[in-house]
Amino acid sequence: MRMILIGPPGAGKGTQAANLVDTYEIPHISSGDMLRAAVKAGTELGKVADRYMKAGDLVPDDVVIGMIIERIGADDCARGFMLDGFPRTQPQAAALDEALKKAGVDLDAVVLIEVPDELILDRITGRRSDPETGTIYHLKFKPPPPEVAGRVVQRKDDTAEACTARLSKYHRETAPVVPYYEARGILRRVDGVGAPDEVLLRLTAALKAPSAS
Ligand code: ADP
Ligand code: ADP
Repeated sequence: MRMILIGPPGAGKGTQAANLVDTYEIPHISSGDMLRAAVKAGTELGKVADRYMKAGDLVPDDVVIGMIIERIGADDCARGFMLDGFPRTQPQAAALDEALKKAGVDLDAVVLIEVPDELILDRITGRRSDPETGTIYHLKFKPPPPEVAGRVVQRKDDTAEACTARLSKYHRETAPVVPYYEARGILRRVDGVGAPDEVLLRLTAALKAPSAS
């Protein structure tokens, strides 16, 4: 299964990917997680990415494309992968297609998790994660258990300002990628409003339904 999760920042992509990868036994490849790891490790790529990420800007296409194309060429992706946060621009979508074509494989599904803008700020500013396990929590919607609460961290770009910048980038640069996949009949839209378990049920059903192509 080769699939993409797409949606605005805070839509629940990371949360749902963690739920789905066990079912499909494919690696969860989050461009944001990979970039944050590079920033933490202080690599050249990380130094470039850091400036953009802090401001809520997109990291340049050439940087992200190289990183992801290399990652999906790894052995553990032979049976498939779940991309989360990539592609985020039309050039990224085109580069992914080209790489898959070269490898002689196709995308199976692109899932769009839809959440209205007015719910996004709350989701982003309340997001916390456990640095030990990577589990994503939310102060209101998924509070960390007491033994974890003392160590959860907030992402540098999960401020109200950076969130607004990311949301407008999403509408300008990422949303236009959606019709591209819709025209190919591989897009599945999922309502991302409601409890995470409910959204997971919708996602699983959408992935089982026959595709429109
Ligand atoms: P969220 O889960 O809130 O949507 P991510 O963790 O996916 O955010 O991404 C965090 C930041 O990393 C983005 O705001 C952007 O700066 C950078 N980033 C992640 N993926 C990409 C990408 N495909 N292209 C460009 N920048 C990216
Ligand atoms: P994304 O990867 O799309 O940026 P996340 O999975 O990191 O989104 O979720 C953003 C925040 O919203 C997290 O704090 C997460 O716990 C919370 N969240 C995820 N799904 C839901 C949901 N269905 N309802 C309420 N909060 C949610």
